[in-house]
Amino acid sequence: MSATIVADGTKDGFALAKEASASAPLALVVDGKQRDLGYVPPEGAEAEIVTTTDPLGREIMRHSTAHVMAQAVLNLYPGAKYSIGPPIEDGFYYDFEVDHPFTPDDLEKIEAEMKRIVKENQRFERAEVERDEALEIFKDQPYKVEIIEGVASDAEGADRDAGEGPVISVYRNTANGEERYVDLCRGPHVPGTGRIKAFKLLRSSGAYWRGDETKPMLQRIYGTAWESKDALAGYLHRLEEAEKRDHRKLGRELDLYSWPPEVGPGIAIWHPNGAIVRKTLEDLSREMHLERGYDPVFTPHIGKSTLWEISGHLDFYGESMFPQMDIEGSNYVAKPMNCPFHILIYRSKTRSYRDLPLRLSELGTVYRYERSGVIAGLLRARGFTQDDAHIFCRQDQVVDELVAAIDFFRALYATVGLGPDRVRFSTRPPKSVGSDELWDLAEASIPKALERAGLEYSVDEGDGAFYGPKIDIDVRDAIGRYWQVATIQADFLLPDRFGLEYTDHDGSRQQPVMVHRALYGSIERFIGVLVEHFAGAFPTWLAPVQAVVIPIADRHVDYAQKVAENLKRSTVRVEIDDSDNTMGAKIRNQQMHKVPYMLIVGDDEAEKGTVSVRPRSGEERRDVPIDDFAATIADEITRRAVDLTY
Ligand SMILES: [Zn+2]
Ligand SMILES: [Zn+2]
Repeated sequence: MSATIVADGTKDGFALAKEASASAPLALVVDGKQRDLGYVPPEGAEAEIVTTTDPLGREIMRHSTAHVMAQAVLNLYPGAKYSIGPPIEDGFYYDFEVDHPFTPDDLEKIEAEMKRIVKENQRFERAEVERDEALEIFKDQPYKVEIIEGVASDAEGADRDAGEGPVISVYRNTANGEERYVDLCRGPHVPGTGRIKAFKLLRSSGAYWRGDETKPMLQRIYGTAWESKDALAGYLHRLEEAEKRDHRKLGRELDLYSWPPEVGPGIAIWHPNGAIVRKTLEDLSREMHLERGYDPVFTPHIGKSTLWEISGHLDFYGESMFPQMDIEGSNYVAKPMNCPFHILIYRSKTRSYRDLPLRLSELGTVYRYERSGVIAGLLRARGFTQDDAHIFCRQDQVVDELVAAIDFFRALYATVGLGPDRVRFSTRPPKSVGSDELWDLAEASIPKALERAGLEYSVDEGDGAFYGPKIDIDVRDAIGRYWQVATIQADFLLPDRFGLEYTDHDGSRQQPVMVHRALYGSIERFIGVLVEHFAGAFPTWLAPVQAVVIPIADRHVDYAQKVAENLKRSTVRVEIDDSDNTMGAKIRNQQMHKVPYMLIVGDDEAEKGTVSVRPRSGEERRDVPIDDFAATIADEITRRAVDLTY
């Protein structure tokens, strides 16, 4: 935990940390600005002491490790050019121009050199220099020169808050008074390299300078760093777990979906196994929407760009849309969102206050342009299907509708045993449409709804949609990762842009309010999350194959068929494994496919009318009468139980 202490104007961060008995201090935050421990805060200033286990402390330590890595690379590969090396979630990277892509051997050498640098306990020393001096220091480093020249923009090293002109700060690593390394950097840094306790280089890959494919390809090394060897080991274990659960890898193994290169990146095709999981989730969604008073609608995948001009999407969202298609002189676009179509349905006839709330729902497939570099399987894709709905209501109904949407979320996610685990309220972004008055009304409705629904939340300033504030809901998976899934938005603006109206009791014309909400969010993404959360071992109600009957010998195939027929009558998805494989191979194969139940049948079972139930994990249970098993599994499926009964 970080401590806060009031400065007396004479002590630096080291002394203040000591006074506050803060253990493992790394840096300071004074008046919202991050500083090195060597900084002396002015009298009366509140200094927050950042320690190794604070999120900010880890960030500073990771970025310091990136400097150490760059020093190691410059030492080992003379002529290497270094560009930038920011901290990222759980780690850091640094980009270099070198004469060959880094190999695993290179990474080992670099890691060894980094250990030497850490052992030397070099000091990190800050200096502020004039632009000319900075250009002189980095004269052989073209990327640093480019950054210095662009210092007025958003470059690392620019300190626009300090004084009038930009101050260029550099950090030197020194040992015994000798300079070992210098980097252009805003800071802060740990006081010495000895503060870096545990790190590991993870991988390397090509990365364009400034992320721009017209610029040179650099070599990026990713690493991770932690405050202790234990914390590092824990992280590496989580990483290994996450790799095992990767939904792309499991999608292949379980034959769920694929991304053929002929289709293009970020657009999946669904194989029968994946499609049945998806259909099951879609059926559940449709059923629950009907129960909750939503009317299903269908709208097209493309439409004239006029619609998106009115909605404002072309202005505010154009970069995320697929390019326009010219058809007989009109421009058409693939829809990035379903809202405008639902608005047209609302507007298709005169509405009265008695019609409200009107809840229109659709499993609507949308297309968004994502750069190929950021596409990540089902999690970030170019085409996906939202369980989208738009609720048109009176102003006095908005909070009720928001609360109902949150309740809906809870009921839906209970079926897979997830969240809500983290809730964010995102407010008006800098680039938005509509008056302050309407934004104030929309923003006021959200905290009311969250409080009534009993949800704790944090506020993300400026992260709302261009037409309204929103609630984002995250769930936490089996290995502790958070995933953003659902979004619920309050919108007072699109109804205005489209001139929506209803007739009130007194005959006056009023403007309705819209609630936009998607609970799975994207069905594709939600399934990606579920595959990773369950590590492919779906609850029975979702599993593509729910039971497999395995005859011990050929003479048991007839009985196996009888068992399968019986289960099919209870609409269980069942298969028979009558392959020539050995019993051991069959069991391993079904376990690999994470089938919930294997039913093993031999002479004994055929004679007694039973099955031996072998769940995908756990103990085998013998002599289960076939009717009992059928009734139990049917009940497990109907209840949408998260855990297996046997
Ligand atoms: Zn730096
Ligand atoms: Zn919408």
